[in-house]
Amino acid sequence: MNCNICGRPAEPLFTTRVLGRHEVTYHRCGRCGFIQTDEPFWLAEAYKDAINIYDVWAVSRPIHDCEMVVRLIDRCFAGTGLPFLDFGGGHGIFTRRMRDKGYPFLRSDTYTPNLYARCFDVTDYPRESRFALIACFEVFEHLPDPIKELRALFELADTVVFSTNIAPAGLKKEGDWNYFSPYHGQHVSFYTVAALEELAAATGSRLYTDRLDHHLLTRANLRLTQAQFVGIASGHPSNRLRRLLQKAGNALLRLSRPRSQWKPRESLTFADFNRVCEITKKEPGFPENKPGVMD
Ligand SMILES: [Zn+2]
Repeated sequence: MNCNICGRPAEPLFTTRVLGRHEVTYHRCGRCGFIQTDEPFWLAEAYKDAINIYDVWAVSRPIHDCEMVVRLIDRCFAGTGLPFLDFGGGHGIFTRRMRDKGYPFLRSDTYTPNLYARCFDVTDYPRESRFALIACFEVFEHLPDPIKELRALFELADTVVFSTNIAPAGLKKEGDWNYFSPYHGQHVSFYTVAALEELAAATGSRLYTDRLDHHLLTRANLRLTQAQFVGIASGHPSNRLRRLLQKAGNALLRLSRPRSQWKPRESLTFADFNRVCEITKKEPGFPENKPGVMD
């Protein structure tokens, strides 16, 4: 099998059961480190339940991503006059929230019904063929042919901002990284920074990455440095003075709150994830190891 990104040989890494039923081998490219499954024949089955039961981050993630995309648009895409597109937008939470904030996003998704951004689906606006920016969060790991998909996105916009977790070094088996998630079967492509660089080269674009989970590919000149992108992705400004001002602002905000509210409550998200695991652990194919951020 050859790498779906750089075309060099990919060697078998491990074999596991996908959806508890299918014996599937995962392959790693010897050159760029990209990991891909066997040809994913099980996807129709995997998307019967498009939002999987383990995704307790289904609301917090789009809210967090909204904040990042606001920073990005304000920095690089103010006043373009073009709409924005949320590709693989799920139930439309991200699109709804961005529109609440005044950013004209449209949603598109092949697998999931539009619940929260009805009337603002790309299908409602068939004349819109160009977008200032495409947001594409937790989608790239679902793509069986990333180069083909990315080329199609570049027909619609010069810039794609996206998230996918970078594969840690030294992976040997399925249990080493819960992002493989074979029990829901939707993740079929796993990236290294080198693989993303190959993806940029194959599509004539430039890569920005925080080397963790947020990335941007563009054919435009955004006048943006890597450090500035990392600042946008993290919410911590790359400029020292701005960082200090942000800290001071946060301290003032804390002081202005009543004493009883000083400490925010601890999130229940991870505990809820564990609870879902407990409830469902008898499902065939569920891995022994648990938590971590996943979708
Ligand atoms: Zn490769």
